[in-house]
Amino acid sequence: MNDNKEFCPFCGSCLQGDPIPEEDQHHYGATHGSRKIAIYSLEEDRTVKWQCPDCGKEWDRE
Ligand SMILES: [Zn+2]
Repeated sequence: MNDNKEFCPFCGSCLQGDPIPEEDQHHYGATHGSRKIAIYSLEEDRTVKWQCPDCGKEWDRE
């Protein structure tokens, strides 16, 4: 199980969110939620960037 620990590339803030209840973890494929904000493109119909909730900076999705 991926523990999806992530950090903001700009301010280094931990982006790991609240723990996901064990019975729901298989829906997410992770043990914790994420605090990063998805920047969604209507044109491309997908998440194209992430935004840090602490410093507000954006970076491209891999
Ligand atoms: Zn940040």
